[in-house]
Amino acid sequence: MRETIIAKYGEIILKGGNRPRFEKMLTDNIKSSLKNITPCRVWICQAAVYVDEFDADKADIVVERMSMIFGITSITKAALCEKEFSEIVRTAKEYLKEDLSRPARFKVEAKRADKSFPLNSTQLAIELGGELDDAFSDIVCDVHNPEITVMCEIREAGAYVYIREKRVPGQGGMPIGSGSKATLLLSGGIDSPVAGHMIAKRGVTIDAVNFFSFPYTSDRAKEKVIELAKIIARYTSKMKLYIVPFTEIQLNIRDKCPEEYMTLIMRRFMMRISEKIALAHGSKALVTGESVGQVASQTLAALDVTNAVIDMPVLQPLIGMDKIEVIQRAEKIGTYDTSILPYEDCCTVFTPKHPKLNPKRSEVERIESALDTEALEAEALAGVELIEVYPD
Ligand code: ATP
Ligand code: MG
Repeated sequence: MRETIIAKYGEIILKGGNRPRFEKMLTDNIKSSLKNITPCRVWICQAAVYVDEFDADKADIVVERMSMIFGITSITKAALCEKEFSEIVRTAKEYLKEDLSRPARFKVEAKRADKSFPLNSTQLAIELGGELDDAFSDIVCDVHNPEITVMCEIREAGAYVYIREKRVPGQGGMPIGSGSKATLLLSGGIDSPVAGHMIAKRGVTIDAVNFFSFPYTSDRAKEKVIELAKIIARYTSKMKLYIVPFTEIQLNIRDKCPEEYMTLIMRRFMMRISEKIALAHGSKALVTGESVGQVASQTLAALDVTNAVIDMPVLQPLIGMDKIEVIQRAEKIGTYDTSILPYEDCCTVFTPKHPKLNPKRSEVERIESALDTEALEAEALAGVELIEVYPD
């Protein structure tokens, strides 16, 4: 008997002739995510990923890592043994003994992908169920309403035994690398990390840009953004974070534009600069964390004025979500506790008291013409700092 890990994948199955290419991306991503943890073998057979030959004490951490890899829908630890009934019984008794030694309703479900196995699925389920029932006095067989489902799958490489209810859910989505690259405008807030995670989940590689207003925002605010990037990198394996100095632009806006337009014009600078960074590094879209009506700068008119300054598509995956839903997602992906740390973001420092709710493009353009936008942008771009972020 040896322990192995089986992962199921979702949407990749629908990929027809391109499926092997997506499967390769998935196995490559798994290998790279496990390479610092344990040697192992990763392979695909019959629409499942198998990980085996890992260090015996590393199974749980392998499962944990795999639960963060996009493309996988569920992960299960299983015992692998020879396709021989007596061996399967022995393995199930040994591998599942803790779970079967407590009072519980159970059933056995068998799958026979290898049709040369002498018992069919029903026979195997009945025979194995009988053996386990005899061996463990606390469990009772209940095929209609089981608490524990002992799975036995006869596959090419051998027989696999596990408990279905112990399956760990995966992230779903598509493997990173399958969906080109986008650039996330990452603030220190709750929303943008969630937006980045949602787009990465679709297989898109994510770079991030943060606008930073030293000395109005502190080094701790910067560390917070780096920390958020690290959390997102748990799912994407690594991330490039571009820190853009933004103070000069904000001071210019404050001094030369009406206060009520401050946030809008600031956001337009962010979009233009991010698009330039994105184009320079092969990104095909920007990602931001707005949802309609959440704040003054997120009315439809404000979004129009903000997005009008660039040609690149702007992906706003939270656009129809309530704050509560976004918070729930942030908690689930692990960014929430960091996002709520109280360090000021550059937008918070320069917030107008009465922001413009219904701005018009022409009016904003007129106001913005008081600024030398090109020179300010060039100066900011010249000061960009690149940080390569890896998960802890
Ligand atoms: P978040 O919680 O992501 O900060 P928010 O609700 O505070 O979002 P805004 O401050 O209006 O919204 O910002 C809208 C979007 O603009 C953010 O979701 C983010 O994508 C981007 N953004 C805002 N501030 C910054 C910043 N300092 N650096 C990079 N991107 C930013
Ligand atoms: Mg914000």
